[in-house]
Parts: sequence; structure tokens; C-alpha cells
Amino acid sequence: MQTLTDRFGRNHNYLRISVTDRCNLRCLYCMPEEGVEFTESTNLMSYPEIVEVVEAGASLGIKKLRITGGEPLIRPNLEQLIARLAAIPGIEDIALTTNGVFLANKAKALKEAGLNRVNISLDTLDPARFKFIARSGDLKRVMEGIEAAAEVGFHPIKLNCVLLKNVNEDEIAQFLKLAYEQPLHVRFIEYMPIGHDDENWRNHYLPLSRVLEIATEQNYEISKRDDIHGNGPSEDWEMKGGVGSFGLIHPISDHFCKNCNRLRLTADGNIKPCLYWVDELNVKDAFGNSEAMRDIFYKSMDIKPENHEMAARLLNGAQTHVPTDRRMSQIGG
Ligand code: SAM
Ligand code: SF4
Repeated sequence: MQTLTDRFGRNHNYLRISVTDRCNLRCLYCMPEEGVEFTESTNLMSYPEIVEVVEAGASLGIKKLRITGGEPLIRPNLEQLIARLAAIPGIEDIALTTNGVFLANKAKALKEAGLNRVNISLDTLDPARFKFIARSGDLKRVMEGIEAAAEVGFHPIKLNCVLLKNVNEDEIAQFLKLAYEQPLHVRFIEYMPIGHDDENWRNHYLPLSRVLEIATEQNYEISKRDDIHGNGPSEDWEMKGGVGSFGLIHPISDHFCKNCNRLRLTADGNIKPCLYWVDELNVKDAFGNSEAMRDIFYKSMDIKPENHEMAARLLNGAQTHVPTDRRMSQIGG
């Protein structure tokens, strides 16, 4: 069977699945504090429907899955979905991205169900600042989630830290120290203008070159490594003598599109070839027809753009195409 190769020769083996657009937090770079409209529960993909989409994708070469959201752990019995996905022939790796608040209670069941890896979002090590960024929740519970994930044997544990100018940039040194002292991979992420009000983004966008400057100021001996965590969008760095490592995800200052191998499935049943642009393909009419479902995957290859244009937006607002008005919580990060 034909594999998923787009017009630019990029092969796709990775599907990110948003299981809900709802969240227990309201991170200021992701969604507004109030007034967010969520997908009606009747419009959310059911677990059997998600399995059906993944079965079609797996038959075309999808091997890696990431479960995300919104907050995926607010979807009841997520471990049941993981177990069903893990049993699909061809699926080799299932990862989860979570804010960690509910992870302590769930880590064991998720591991037993077949989850391979976990990324936990952690933008600050300061409890008061956590409340400012996430506008809710409790840092202590996230830290308990990280501990529980380590205890049940998830490895590597990656921490996602979105850097925000004048908000958490003064914690870069502390996050580097964490990566040096603990068996953790800290991924610094540039704030992206996805479905977002531009003013907030312009005020808080921070290029990740700042991380390398601070690592040098702190006298870490760092070297870039291609072999730490594979060839995803993260540029990985080793710290000589350190237990962990860190990564830089800089979609704006240096975009990663030329190696893109991913598709996204939204919680309301749309395949998105690129997180940035508006184009998406609804899968709901294809349920019960595996050939039609595969056709949607093929079509997504035909319409996948060469790259996003977030940097152009920063510089002069020019775009060649229409950006999505969905937020990260709706697309699945
Ligand atoms: N709720 C889960 C969490 O926070 O980990 C999963 C969904 S969240 C949308 C996935 C990832 O996207 C998180 O690491 C989050 O920090 C990141 N994210 C959300 N909005 C972003 C933005 N505007 N720019 C960069 N990263 C963003
Ligand atoms: Fe929720 Fe994750 Fe978005 Fe924060 S980043 S509001 S935790 S979906």
C-alpha cells in the first residue's frame, strides 16, 4: 500500500491526537481565561472512532502516536483508549502530553495500558507564578505527577516549558539546573501565535537563543546532539557532567518544517496537515469505510503546505494563506 508522502517528499509516520479541547487550566499562551467555547461532548470523537482513524493511518505507515488536548487526562478512562491503540498492528510508540495535574493518580494505569512516554508541561518552578500563567491549578500536583511518572518507569520524562518574555525568562537558569541535576529532558518552546491575539504574543515572544546565552553564562559545557531523542522538531543539547539534557523547539526563529513527519487529528474529528494553517479534512463521513478513511489521509498529503509562516507574521504580518483560528488547546499542541 502507498505510504503517506507529501508533495515535498516528506514521509509521515506520526499522528497527534487531541482527545478533548477542554482543560482544567487556562494557560495564558494557550487560551483566554473566560469565554472559551468547547466542543459539545456529542461532537467529540468517541474512543472507537479514534481507533478507526488510527487503524487506517497505521495501514499507511503511521507508527507513532501522541495523545494530547486540551488536557487529555480529563477524558474518562483514557487508559482504555491507550490499550486499544497499543493493540493496533503497526503502532510502535504511544506518548502523552499532559499538564500533569491529574497524572499522579493515573500514571500506573497508563503505563500498564501501554503508554510508552510522557511529556509534562512545566513553565515555572514557582507556585505563585504557576497560578499566574495557568490561572488555576496547583504546581504541587504537577510535581507529584512528575514524581509518579518516574516511579512507574516512564523514561525519558520530558518537560515542556514555553518561554515568555517578562514572565518566566528569569527561570531559564533554574530549568537548566534541573536538567543538569535530574534525569529529565527540559524542552524550551517558543511561544507560537496560534489562533492567538497578536498583542499578547508580540509582548511575550522570546527567541530561544536566550537559553544558549544563559547556559554559557552559567558555565555549562553544552554540545548539540542529534542522537538524544530522535529527529523531531527539538534541537537537543547535552550538558557535560549532567544527568539530564535540554532541547530547544524554535518554530519561529528557525522553523522545522522541512523534516515534518506529522499529522494532527482534532477532538472534533478533523485531520490537520499543518498546525498553523486553516486547512483540515473531516473524517466523520468516512466512518465504517476504511478505503474512504485512507483516502482522507492521502488527500491530507496533497494539501499539506511546505511550511508555516509564523516568522512572517512576526516581522510584517504578511501571509500567503489563511492561518487557523483554532487555539492550541483545540488543535492539540
Ligand atoms: N494540556 C496539555 C499540556 O498542557 O501539556 C496538552 C495540550 S497543550 C495544548 C500541548 C503543549 O502545547 C503544551 O506543552 C503547551 O505548553 C503547548 N502550547 C500551548 N499553547 C502554545 C503556544 N501558543 N505556543 C507554544 N506552545 C504552546
Ligand atoms: Fe490547558 Fe495545556 Fe492549554 Fe495549558 S497548554 S491551557 S494545560 S491545554
